[in-house]
Amino acid sequence: MRKEAAIRQSDILDVLSSSEAPMTAYQILAELQKDEPDIAPPTIYRALTALTYQGRAHKLETLKAFVPCRCEHDNSVPLLTICDGCGSVEEHDGGPLLPKLDALIASSEFIPDGYTIELHGQCRVCAQ
Ligand SMILES: [Zn+2]
Ligand SMILES: [Zn+2]
Repeated sequence: MRKEAAIRQSDILDVLSSSEAPMTAYQILAELQKDEPDIAPPTIYRALTALTYQGRAHKLETLKAFVPCRCEHDNSVPLLTICDGCGSVEEHDGGPLLPKLDALIASSEFIPDGYTIELHGQCRVCAQ
């Protein structure tokens, strides 16, 4: 069972990496079902949760969609720019912001699971 789950995670990363735009869990499921019609939605949700937790994929909360991690970062701040024109997403390493963000919330004694910054706007191409 454990081995099967590991395969699913890499399969999901392959699907995400081959897509220009972020994908919803449903779109990922539909893609994987082309090869394996028996895959159940909970399998995908579990694998996506694990992948986001590990930082190998990021969830765009504003779109309810996923992108593969395209930065080499560890406990850092993924800064994702999302083009509302063409749907492309670029990832930047927001690591330098980490101390500042920690300082900003320090007084509230809130413990974040992590930071993900999503910026909506227009990419270079769409802005022209
Ligand atoms: Zn990342
Ligand atoms: Zn664009």
